[in-house]
Amino acid sequence: MTDLQSILPEEKGGMHPIIIAGPCSAETEEQVLSTARELARNGVKIFRAGIWKPRTKPGGFEGVGREGLPWLAKVKEETGMLTATEVATRQHVEDALAAGVDILWIGARTSANPFAMQEIADALQEAGKDVPVLVKNPVNPDLELWIGALQRLYNAGIHRLGAIHRGFSAYGKHLYRNMPQWHIPIELRRRFPNLTLVCDPSHIGGKRELVAPLSQQALDMGFDGLIIESHCDPDCAWSDKAQQVTPEVLNFILNTLVLRDATV
Ligand code: PEP
Ligand code: MN
Repeated sequence: MTDLQSILPEEKGGMHPIIIAGPCSAETEEQVLSTARELARNGVKIFRAGIWKPRTKPGGFEGVGREGLPWLAKVKEETGMLTATEVATRQHVEDALAAGVDILWIGARTSANPFAMQEIADALQEAGKDVPVLVKNPVNPDLELWIGALQRLYNAGIHRLGAIHRGFSAYGKHLYRNMPQWHIPIELRRRFPNLTLVCDPSHIGGKRELVAPLSQQALDMGFDGLIIESHCDPDCAWSDKAQQVTPEVLNFILNTLVLRDATV
């Protein structure tokens, strides 16, 4: 596993830090495009939006599904941004690749499931496309399970890999929505120094006001990038409204982050 290290080479080479931003969920074509246009105007190069949303409980908004894929294609065509979405099944992989999505990510509930990971790895291998894939840590603080998810993709020929630290679940009320437990991603970095490491301050913090400090902490620890939820009208978002920031606020945050020599 020492060779789990060729990751997002173009994206990493061209951008420091790598910034991925966009709404938790694609809701409507208008919401996707107006958010994307403003992010692009502010210099964001990679747009995220969840098309399929795994929710903790039934009855919530589970994503618009494949209907939203052409909206991402429009974002790419109009703004030139790369697009990224979450996949959790073979069908998602096939649909996202057919629609021209540039980067896939695996959610925290999926990376905890070896059968789902293997199904996704097999689907990617069969598709034969060299698409970059970012793997969120499993919801539980299990570094080996996180590495195993990455290995399944690597063994399927997907070598442009990155890891997203989105914090770990804990029972009860805490400052953070998901505990950062920074030592876990730092240990991942120690073991795979060339693996692209991205922080998701939105899902760690769960609230807008924690996005900036968590982003700064991550950069100080040597993370390569940030994935931040941004919505044109966060208070009306259909999912994760408390943690989303407007593109304007995001721009302010990004402009105030200090880039210094990393400590790890
Ligand atoms: C998301 O990125 O919107 C998401 C559902 O994240 P996670 O898998 O980290 O909970
Ligand atoms: Mn979200």
